[in-house]
Amino acid sequence: MVEGMITKSETERRTASLPDPEGARATFSWDAARSTLEGLPGGGLNIAHEALDRHVAAGHGDQVAIRWLGRQGAERDISYAGLADTAARFAAVLRDHGLVPGDRLFALAGRVPELYAGALGTLKAGLTFTPLFAAFGPEPIRARMEIGEATALLTTETLWRRKIAPWAEEIPSLKLVLIIGDSAPEGCVALGPALAAAAPAATVETGPEDTALIHFTSGTTGKPKGAVHVHGAVVAHAATGRFALDLQPGDRYWCTADPGWVTGTSYGIISPLVNRVTMIVDEAEFDVERWYSILEAERVQVWYTAPTAIRMLMRAGKDAAQGHDFSHLRFLASVGEPLNPEGVIWGHEVFGRPFHDNWWQTETGGIMIANTAAMDIRPGSMGKPLPGITAGIVEREEDGSLRECAAGEVGELALRPGWPSMMRAYLHEQARYEKCFAGGWYLSGDLAMRDGDGYFWFVGRADDLIKSSGHLIGPFEVESALIEHPAVAEAAVIGLPDETAGEVVKAYVALHAGHEPSEELEREIRGHARKKLGPAVAPREIAFRDGLPKTRSGKIMRRLLKARELGLPEGDLSTLESDSR
Ligand code: ATP
Ligand code: MG
Repeated sequence: MVEGMITKSETERRTASLPDPEGARATFSWDAARSTLEGLPGGGLNIAHEALDRHVAAGHGDQVAIRWLGRQGAERDISYAGLADTAARFAAVLRDHGLVPGDRLFALAGRVPELYAGALGTLKAGLTFTPLFAAFGPEPIRARMEIGEATALLTTETLWRRKIAPWAEEIPSLKLVLIIGDSAPEGCVALGPALAAAAPAATVETGPEDTALIHFTSGTTGKPKGAVHVHGAVVAHAATGRFALDLQPGDRYWCTADPGWVTGTSYGIISPLVNRVTMIVDEAEFDVERWYSILEAERVQVWYTAPTAIRMLMRAGKDAAQGHDFSHLRFLASVGEPLNPEGVIWGHEVFGRPFHDNWWQTETGGIMIANTAAMDIRPGSMGKPLPGITAGIVEREEDGSLRECAAGEVGELALRPGWPSMMRAYLHEQARYEKCFAGGWYLSGDLAMRDGDGYFWFVGRADDLIKSSGHLIGPFEVESALIEHPAVAEAAVIGLPDETAGEVVKAYVALHAGHEPSEELEREIRGHARKKLGPAVAPREIAFRDGLPKTRSGKIMRRLLKARELGLPEGDLSTLESDSR
């Protein structure tokens, strides 16, 4: 047995949604996966139909689709029938205001029920849905609405007045602004009365290749790209939710990602509803005590969250979790950034279950590589490719061709195109899109390694790789070693130019409560890293920070640290940073 491996019991394996991952990999086909959905007459496919109407028609209308927890303590249960009805009315409102399939609705709202009904109503009406993160400032909103040529907007009066109204006239494509609530400023439409007056619309007969979603990437490495996804993606949302998140009908499921990001839409709206679970939606922001209480009081069974949140929980200490009953939790998963082994082990200790890391990108539209419920976990590994997914590690040869790397070799993580949720384009960036493909592979831009047993290990983004005295150093490995030190809560590692070594490794760390920066602590952490990693890989210098710069989706922005260190222009990066530094 590999050191630190977390093994699964026979019962865990047998009761998993994917009890035999290896067997399934051999027999799986996307055509067969598609036949588990209903589809529309004449070969059509529509995400909203699969997420809602299909279940209502099968007699599950009374099941709770969304259990909504308001910021101020309000609670609301919305049934599948109720959500389907509001979505159908929403679709009618769009149609009655002259919007047609192919038009594009942008949503800018917090996690309120109308956002969910609006997303599904938009898809039902055959329009493209694009979520924006409500905490964005006016500039990122405007840039995205311009690139995406928004025709409709769903938002709140406050957000409208504060962030959009001053320049809305400069978006000539914008025809309809729906304001959540009972009243609306001049020129906008109040959603409440409009829904009440509408007669529920039937689903537009979209085809599998019709555009359904445009998601902007997180912008961790530069200007966000608009990834275009189609209704056919629902086949992947359905299958990967079962395989990678272990979703089973009736489960109580909590995805903590905001629908402003691809995770919060694919796995915070579509996949869970298609798999007929009850979603917990919390309107409030992260709060340690609130989160532990929700897990307990809502008897959450499946929980999908992110390393940044896990690290914040870790930072609060194990005591904060004490006294809570987490016995309903069956499956924990994480995505968005590499999950340090420390986080996996911590989860196991606090919740009695490990976090299952999985990997995907806005571009892939759905989870590609995962630790699934029946698999033994090697902490630090992102798991294995799901059934239907062929992943490889490749390296570009001097003549431009691609060579597949052997086990243990680091190279670019690549996927064989053909899964249903693959992006169909980068909006207005055809050349960039085409550059993602070579030699029959989709190239992810991430570096990884596959071990002899087929587990994949994330090394870093290709751009973040550090070359120091002939060594190739992935920041993730160094960061994971640093946070094993008891004083270190978070770490970010970059390479800085150096005349002799080419680059030297510099680390930024944030400390756990109760620890203060000092020269002595710096020396101690460096010593710890040298022991774990060896002198060639360990950071030469460590700087203390109260917090690390992150994207608004919570990802550490190594490139911004580097730009600041070198006095380079920060460009688009700094405007995407979160407030919580
Ligand atoms: P941009 O492409 O605009 O720079 P981004 O890559 O952060 O932003 P996303 O598509 O939201 O935008 O994030 C996908 C990326 O996040 C992956 O390519 C990978 O670098 C990282 N990532 C996601 N999940 C994992 C994981 N489990 N382990 C390691 N890295 C992950
Ligand atoms: Mg990316």
